[in-house]
Formats: sequence, C-alpha cells, structure tokens
Amino acid sequence: MFWRAAIPDCHGCVVKSILMEKVRLAVVYHPDFALYGYPVLRERLSPAFNELKERGLLDRPDVRVIEPVPAEDCLIGMVHTPAHIRGVKGAGYWEVALLSAGAVIAGMEEVAAGRAEAAFCFVGSAGHHASREGFWGFCYLNDAAIAVRHLREKRLASRFAIIDIDPHFGDGTRDIFGPDPAVLHLNFHGGYGEEAASGPANHDFRLPWDCDDERFASAAERAVSMAEDFRPDLLLVVFGHDGHSRDYGAFELSIDAYRRFARTVREAFPARVCYILSGGSNPEVAREAVAGVIEEMVL
Ligand SMILES: [Zn+2]
Repeated sequence: MFWRAAIPDCHGCVVKSILMEKVRLAVVYHPDFALYGYPVLRERLSPAFNELKERGLLDRPDVRVIEPVPAEDCLIGMVHTPAHIRGVKGAGYWEVALLSAGAVIAGMEEVAAGRAEAAFCFVGSAGHHASREGFWGFCYLNDAAIAVRHLREKRLASRFAIIDIDPHFGDGTRDIFGPDPAVLHLNFHGGYGEEAASGPANHDFRLPWDCDDERFASAAERAVSMAEDFRPDLLLVVFGHDGHSRDYGAFELSIDAYRRFARTVREAFPARVCYILSGGSNPEVAREAVAGVIEEMVL
C-alpha cells in the first residue's frame, strides 16, 4: 500500500510531498543522540540500535528507519514557558532536546497519518520530568506533549492515552496533561511519593521498589485495559527500562517483563501505538529490552 505523505512546515504549509509505503513499524533514530545526548542516557543508544541491525530487524521490508529533524521552536513555545526555554538553553542540552522532540513528532506523525502501524522513537534526552516551567532528571523538553500538540495542530489526532512504565513519576507529563480530559495518563512509579495532580483522566500505579515481573504484568494488563476503554486516537508508551534489575531505577524486572508488556500492548493495540524511549543507562539491558520489545511489535 502506498501513501502520499504531505510534509508541512511548522505553520502547516506543505513544503514537499513524497511517496511512502505503509509499514508495520517506523524506528526513529539519529546518531547525534549517542554523541550529544545526556551522559547517563546516551551510552546505551548505539548498542541498542546496533542490536536491531544485528537481529535483522531493520532489514525487514515492513520496517522503516527514519532520521528525525529538530522540532520547530514555535511548537516548543506552545508547551513550555519562555522562562523554561531560557533555562533549557542555559543547561546546554537545547539542541539534543529539540532533536529528541523531533523524533517523537516524526514517530507519532507516521502512525497518526497512517504511514506506519506503530513507531519506536529513540531520544537523546528524556521528557516526562519536563513540566510547563520546570525540568530535571535528564528531561528538558516534554517530547510527548510537544508531539501531541503537533498532531492536534495538524488535526491528525486529538485523543491520547499515555502508559508511562518508567519507574520514576512522570511529574512533568502530569503537570501538562493532568487537567486535560482528552489525555489519559496512566503512570507507573516506584513509590517516590509525589502528589498526583487531580484530573479527570489520570491514574497512578504505585508499585513496590522490588516490583517483580508478575506484579508488573498485572498492573500492565490493567493499564492496557483502561487505555482500551478510553478509545484513544493514539496510544503512547513512555518506555523506560530503568526498572530492570540491572538498571538504576526502582523495580526488579527482567527482560521478559518488557517483552510481555509489549505483547499485552500489541494484542489490545495492533496499530496506532508509539513507544518513546525514556530512562535507562545499562547498554546490555537496553540491547535486550529494546530489541525484545521491537520483536514483539513486528510480530
Ligand atoms: Zn526513570
């Protein structure tokens, strides 16, 4: 199946039109992520991407690799305040944060426009701790929120469910989407104790620090079921593998927990799903976790 994709600029003007075949999975990656990304996060990126090559996943005819371009400044200003933007520029990660947001925009647009059934977006900095006017924890710009804004501006999608399985509380995403009834925020966390903002479409899965595969799978099944009931235009998965037993976050998960999670998601959402890489630093965990998830996504 071929799709003619109109690629607009930030203001919606079509700047070029290209012919694309619809694929099962779009993988969004830029080599600059591994060179200029936040140090804790970047060491895992090349190993994880290379593992996909070694397993032949990127040679499949139903997989497309996309190199993103930086998000447009005007979009950033629709999500973050001028003070936030000045702060991120001063922190030294502005360029890689823009490129990371651009990666999520590219992946979500591929899916929303029907050019791919699913997407997996690599990033050089994470997003879920970036609020409207604050950032911490290797997160500078809220990549998911910026991409949601982009899709809404283009009228490609308006209703979203987010399952955030990174074991750190997605406080930035909650700050931005907490009051939004058209974004369901299903937020896993390891009992860090942050107060959840009240809102019409928020649910927190507070799991023990030593959460094992079984308990995680049970929460995942509930979360996916809630996402199904919400009937989103698009499901976003904030995919942190820092919950693995050999990575730095809460939880004591094995690689199999991530594969099983991806299977549960695929069974409920065979299409219209976009994974966004989040926390994690262990290259060996990243190799196995990302490749395992993508193998499940392309089944
Ligand atoms: Zn995390």
